Amino acid sequence: HGAIRQIATTGGDYGTANTHEVRRYLKTYGLLPPNVESYEVQAKRCLALLNSKTTAMDKFQYLSFLRHSDVHLFYRLLSDNVKELTPLIYTPTVGEACQKWHEIYTQPEGMYISYSDKGNIAAILQNWPHNVEISVVTDGSRILGLGDLGVGGMGIPIGKLALYTACAGINPNATLPITCDLGTSNQALIDNPLYMGSRRPKVTAQEEREFLDELMAALTERWPGIVIQYEDWKNPFTSLERYQDTYTMFNDDVQGTGAVILGGLVTAVKQSGVPIKDQRAIFLGAGSAGVGVAKQIVEFFMKEGLSEEEAKKKFWFVDSNGMVTLDRGDKLADHKVYFARDDNQGKQIQSLVRLIDYVKPTILMGLSTIGGAFTPEVLSKMAEINTNPIIFPLSNPSSKSECTFEEAMQHTNGKCLFASGSPFPSLEWEGKTYTPGQGNNMYVFPGIGLGAILCKAVNVTQDMIYSSGIALEASLNKQERAEGWIYPDIRRIREVSVTVTRYVIRSAQKAGVDRELNLRNLSDEELDEYIKERMYDPFKERDMLVNEVKSLVA
Ligand code: NAP
Ligand code: MN
Repeated sequence: HGAIRQIATTGGDYGTANTHEVRRYLKTYGLLPPNVESYEVQAKRCLALLNSKTTAMDKFQYLSFLRHSDVHLFYRLLSDNVKELTPLIYTPTVGEACQKWHEIYTQPEGMYISYSDKGNIAAILQNWPHNVEISVVTDGSRILGLGDLGVGGMGIPIGKLALYTACAGINPNATLPITCDLGTSNQALIDNPLYMGSRRPKVTAQEEREFLDELMAALTERWPGIVIQYEDWKNPFTSLERYQDTYTMFNDDVQGTGAVILGGLVTAVKQSGVPIKDQRAIFLGAGSAGVGVAKQIVEFFMKEGLSEEEAKKKFWFVDSNGMVTLDRGDKLADHKVYFARDDNQGKQIQSLVRLIDYVKPTILMGLSTIGGAFTPEVLSKMAEINTNPIIFPLSNPSSKSECTFEEAMQHTNGKCLFASGSPFPSLEWEGKTYTPGQGNNMYVFPGIGLGAILCKAVNVTQDMIYSSGIALEASLNKQERAEGWIYPDIRRIREVSVTVTRYVIRSAQKAGVDRELNLRNLSDEELDEYIKERMYDPFKERDMLVNEVKSLVA
C-alpha cells in the first residue's frame, strides 16, 4: 500500500541502477530485470525510446511514466538534457496535455481539491504522505494562452514543479502540485462526458476568496514554512495582493515574468554602453504584461540614481489606440494611467516609425500580441539612431512575436541586443554563430522558490523578486559576456539557480524576513556551498541509499 501511494504521489524507485542489496531493501528484488545498469545505459535506452515516439503526447506520457517508475533517473535525464526535454514536459507540450487531460489521464499525480471540499481542506491535506516544502497551485482558469481548461490545468503545477527539481534541486518528495477544482467557464468541458472536474460554472470571486483563505491557512498549518506559488489564474492580482504579506507566496506569471525581463534588460543596457540617464523605451502593448515589466525597470532606474518621476518619463507606451497619453480623450484603463504621458506634443503620432523618430528610443519592447509589428522599417530606424539598439519582441507564441531573431539581425546589421519571449534558433551571421536570448521564467522561479525555502522566508518580498532578476546579470560567465549574450546558457541552469538563490536569500536577510538566521554569517562563497549541498541530486540520492543499506547490513 505504502509503495503504491509513493508512486501515485511523487514517483517510485523501480530503478535498474539499484544494486541487488538496495533492491532487497526496497523489496523490488525479483521485480526488475536482473542486471544492474549504469546511468549511461539507462539514458541511452530512454532517449532512444523517446525518439521512437512520433507525437508530442506520446513523448509527454512516456516521460511522466518514467517519473513514476524511476524518479531519480527521470530527474538525472532532465537535468542533463534541460534544453531538449523541457519543451516536452512544459511549454509547449504541456499545453496540449492540459487540453487533452481527460483523454490522456492514466494515473494520479498531485492533489485535486474541489469547492465542495470547503470546510474539510485541512483533513484532505492529511492524505498527502510527504513533508512538503513547495506547492504550485492553479485553478486551470488561464492555462498559458489556451483559456480555461478546468482540472486539465493540473499539467501546469506538475510540470512546473518538475522544473523546480531539475533546475534548483528542490527534492521531488517535497513538492506538491495542487489543482483547485472551482468549476469552469469552459462549456465544452462541462458537456464532455470524459471531463474529470466539477460540472458547474466558475465560483464567484467571493467564493474563490473564502476557499483560498481556507487553503492557504491549511497548507501553512500542516507544513509551516511552505512556499506557495500561484500559476495561471485568470485574475492573478487579487490573491497576490491578499496573501503576499501574510504567507510565503508569489505569482510567477506576474512576478517571475517581470524579474526575468528585468534581468535581460539590465544586461542589455550594460552592453549598450548608453548611460541610464540617456535610455528611452517604447513599449508596444500596454497590457498587464507590458506595464508590469516597465514597473520593474522603473525600480532598476531608480536604484541607479533616477527619481521616480525621471524614471517614469523614460517610457512611451503604445496600445491599440496609439500613444498612451492622459488627454487622449478615451477612458484609460487603471493600469495604464501610471505611464500615460502628459507632454503630449506627440499625441497625434499613430505609426510606430513616426513615434521612433519623435522619441529616439534606445529600447524597443513588444508585448502587443501583434506578430510582425516590428517591421523592417521599424528595425532599420532603431539601427539608424543607435549603435546597439535593444530589441525585445516578447509576445508569445512565436507566431505573435513582434519580429523574429533573423529579421532583427538582418535589419539592424547584426547590431541589435535581442531577447524574445518565444524561442528562436541560432543564426550564422558573417561567419559567426549568434544565439538569441529567451526571457524564460525558468531562469528565476526555481531560485526564488529555493531561496525562500532555505532561508525560511516569512514572505516573498518584491525586493526578493527584483533581486532574482538582477542575479541573472551577475550569473553570466566570461564567455557569455564576451559573446554578448543577454541570458546565460540554459544548460547551466543549475549553476545560475545557485546565484539566483543567493541573491534571493540576501534580499530576505536585508529585509529581515528570513528565519534561518545562521545563514546571515556566511560569506557569499560559503552560502553558495550551503545551497549546493542542499540541492537534490539524483546521483547523490542513490549513493545515500546504497550507504544506508550498507550500514543496515553491517
Ligand atoms: P494583453 O493584456 O492582451 O495586452 C496586449 C496589449 O497590446 C494591449 O495594451 C493592447 O492594446 C495592445 N495592442 C493590441 N493590438 C495592438 C496594436 N495593433 N498596436 C499596438 N498595441 C496593440 O496581453 P498581456 O497579458 O499584456 O501579454 C502581452 C504579450 O506578452 C502576450 O503575447 C504574452 O504572450 C507576452 N508575454 C510574454 C512574457 C515573456 O516573455 N516571458 C510574459 C508575459 C507575457 P489595448 O490595451 O488598447 O487593447
Ligand atoms: Mn503561466
